[in-house]
Amino acid sequence: MTHELPALPYELDALSPYISKETMEFHYGKHHQAYVDKMNAAIDGTELGGKPMSDVIAAARGNNPGLFNNAAQSWNHAFYWHSLSPDGGAPSGELAAKIDAAFGSLDALKEQLKSRGAGHFASGWVWLAEKNGVLSIEETHDGDTLADSAFNPLLTIDVWEHAYYLDHQNKRPAYLDAVVDGKLNWGFASDNFTRGTAWVYPS
Ligand code: FE
Repeated sequence: MTHELPALPYELDALSPYISKETMEFHYGKHHQAYVDKMNAAIDGTELGGKPMSDVIAAARGNNPGLFNNAAQSWNHAFYWHSLSPDGGAPSGELAAKIDAAFGSLDALKEQLKSRGAGHFASGWVWLAEKNGVLSIEETHDGDTLADSAFNPLLTIDVWEHAYYLDHQNKRPAYLDAVVDGKLNWGFASDNFTRGTAWVYPS
């Protein structure tokens, strides 16, 4: 079994102008595709070849950095596409209450996501995550992931330069403003929170 590049949940230009069609063509069509292809090449014909993505990530962590990075980046990017939405929306129900409990308000959470994302050194990911019913903001470096962690990831934001350079050049805060203020998929976060276990890569 090989893992596919999952279909985008919206059109390539759906997040324009905040994230342009050109960025999506490179980021989804080239970068994400390359991670999936390299992961498949590494597991083809091995005992990991038929395993779910989360098993591949867990097996490679700590002992096969090449495979780990490509598998984790495959998972992270698929999760990131779902973390974005042209419609945005707002959290509701128990997730909204948990946000208020952890951060004081949705606006405060958004400001913390922006500041943590802007302050993250070099490449990585900023996450809204849940553990034991408590929400927190987490960061992972380079290709690292929360997919096989004790945290249940609810949303993620890619802060690698390739996520924003064509649209915002070096201005990572401008990208974060655009994404956090209006393009986070709160319905996806709510689904992840309600399920209570890490999202499963659609392969
Ligand atoms: Fe990326």
